[in-house]
Amino acid sequence: MRSVGSSYDVRLPDGRALTCTLRGRLRLEENKATNPVAVGDHVRVDLQGESPVIADVLPRSNHLIRKAVKKSARYQVLAANIDQAICVACIDLPFTPLGYIDRFLVMAEAYHIPAVLVFNKVDLLAKDKHLQKLVAFAELYRQLGYRVEVLSALEADFRQHVVALLKDKVSFLVGLSGAGKSSLVNLADPGLNLRTGSISLHSGKGRHTTTFAEMHPLSFGGYVIDAPGFKEFDLVDIARAEVSHYFPEMRQLLPLCKYHNCTHTYEPGCAVKDALAMGEIAESRFNTYLNMLEAMEKPY
Ligand code: GDP
Ligand code: ZN
Repeated sequence: MRSVGSSYDVRLPDGRALTCTLRGRLRLEENKATNPVAVGDHVRVDLQGESPVIADVLPRSNHLIRKAVKKSARYQVLAANIDQAICVACIDLPFTPLGYIDRFLVMAEAYHIPAVLVFNKVDLLAKDKHLQKLVAFAELYRQLGYRVEVLSALEADFRQHVVALLKDKVSFLVGLSGAGKSSLVNLADPGLNLRTGSISLHSGKGRHTTTFAEMHPLSFGGYVIDAPGFKEFDLVDIARAEVSHYFPEMRQLLPLCKYHNCTHTYEPGCAVKDALAMGEIAESRFNTYLNMLEAMEKPY
């Protein structure tokens, strides 16, 4: 399913696309979400009337949301039923800050989406310093339990790698502009021609009809969702003491902190800070954690 203004493109099991409108009941339903249907939704279509209508949205396995407007209680569903979220990152040209990668991983944890980290464009890493970083970062995230792939478009078996990564899955792609997202997908599936740095804003007449995510079918099976408007990994409705639940290395220590709602900042008897002092938690990860707390709306 993808939406364009107030009409929705629904892909049928045989691959054909069908343009549908939305049954009024779904539009009016009391809901905290500003959009009742999102990219990736599975829907039931009613073909009885003059034109096809989305009659029901089936239960979602997961979804990605963000606040519709800052500080509002309502949110926008960006995409649903995502099999994996892939962060395309680079050690250089452009450097992807670890804070970006960590925030991406926290988002994936919070929304129950398996995360994959791809270090791309590694052919550009001539300096030893860069290669050492690559090895250290790949090791850091692998040890945390994440799948890490190292890729270069210049490698002979690049296409094979990317096809294996994307085949038969719904993948949500993120990464800084220039990290090589479009090149990656286009080289794996030349027919697709995902636009580099493309912005796909479809504004309908109503409010909140702008969509930031687009879903592209892959010729070898599966879909990629790209969301060029998705820049910040907002967490919606999360308490301060909850943030560390989304850092696996901290999550496992939480029962050992003296206070059950420990924020691992000023509290005595904190197992997370002990682990940090012992070098068992990476400083870069803890710094991201602190920055995320800092950025949250007060009060505590
Ligand atoms: P996007 O903004 O993430 O979609 O990034 P693009 O796919 O547009 O890639 C940005 C630039 O990096 C383009 O000029 C690509 O040709 C280049 N690029 C992408 N992948 C690689 C790679 O593996 N190696 C090298 N050297 N360049 C690459
Ligand atoms: Zn603690």
